[in-house]
Amino acid sequence: MHTNSLNRLFLKHVGQTSAAPLALEILRAEGIYMYSKNKTYLDCISGIGVSNVGHGNKQVMEAIKNQLDQYMHLMVYGEMVQEPQVMLATHLATLLPESLNSVYFVNSGSEAIEGAMKLAKRVTGRHHFTAQYLAYHGGTHGALSLMSDAYFSQKFIPLLPGISFIHQNDLSEIDSKITEATAAVFIEPIMGEKGYMPSDLIYLKAIRKRCNETGALLVFDEIQSGYGRCGGLFALQHYGITPDILVLAKGFGGGMPLGCFIADKKIMDLFQDNPVLGHINTFGGHPVSCAASLAALNFIIDNDLPQKALKNEQLFRALLVHPNIMEISGKGLMLAIDLVDKNYCRKVIDNCVKSGLLIDWFLYSENKIRLAPPLIIDNEAIEKISGIILENL
Ligand code: PMP
Repeated sequence: MHTNSLNRLFLKHVGQTSAAPLALEILRAEGIYMYSKNKTYLDCISGIGVSNVGHGNKQVMEAIKNQLDQYMHLMVYGEMVQEPQVMLATHLATLLPESLNSVYFVNSGSEAIEGAMKLAKRVTGRHHFTAQYLAYHGGTHGALSLMSDAYFSQKFIPLLPGISFIHQNDLSEIDSKITEATAAVFIEPIMGEKGYMPSDLIYLKAIRKRCNETGALLVFDEIQSGYGRCGGLFALQHYGITPDILVLAKGFGGGMPLGCFIADKKIMDLFQDNPVLGHINTFGGHPVSCAASLAALNFIIDNDLPQKALKNEQLFRALLVHPNIMEISGKGLMLAIDLVDKNYCRKVIDNCVKSGLLIDWFLYSENKIRLAPPLIIDNEAIEKISGIILENL
């Protein structure tokens, strides 16, 4: 169909999320590139932290095709023994700390957060939660309740009651905001939409300690930082801190929709009984998504992508030096360039997109540019990306 009419139909019939969608029509994507009819784009956002192993990754495509030949949906989640699910859960359990040994599969990040909230309620018998100011955990009602920014949540009230907020890296609030009434504390170890802000070790340690004292569960949302993006397979390895529940999505699906929350089987099994079917979903852990996820995981490990992300972080930091860049925050290939001024930042982003570089802003840090390319990126592409950004400053 002609591009103009497709664009018009997109705006008319596809539900919109803002008045200014990117509205690029991409015909094909491969590696770190997206191709429209007349233009090639260097993808520096990975579909917001999804395409960690690159677009059209051969191993992932192969795994998907093989699984398509076997079966797609068989039965609602949790009933049948499906090899891709079992192999993925088992592999994750071998890579994670011993207590993170039971994987509950869902379809998205928001759903995984909902599952983690429900599990924490079951485990503790409590219903208060603590989350971080300017964290993002998803768009469903439970996840939205964990959002501190009233602009995004106030039109959807009533939300869940009993939510407290703490500021990242502020030790002074931990004792008063995490108490014997708290079911769980939701933490992004490297905060995403706040503008790729890593936590201090001392802060995460203090939260872990306070959770142990009060019986609150510690939940790490590694939906953006996981699967190699932060320069470790998971951020929890950078910190050496084990949460009670780990939440994954985005890059976890290798480009397919998939989410999960991972906990100790001892607590996960609470969903089995009283009520039976305490948390259910139809498509969670779709066999094609799990096959893609397992192939992506193997690809990340075999190609040392977390280590490469750390090296590439250093190259970006060395190249992106300019008087208008105040700071580069983040870790691995989740980096944020602070340009201080929101309007200037928006102009730079728009001009970069016009120059064929797909970059983006953050929900809560509109003065920052998001750099999150596929982890397969090489030095030459990093030099090219940095060059385009510098030219547009
Ligand atoms: N948590 C974090 C840290 C996220 O970045 C996101 C998505 N941006 C979510 C949760 C929600 O995931 P989803 O969009 O798959 O529901």
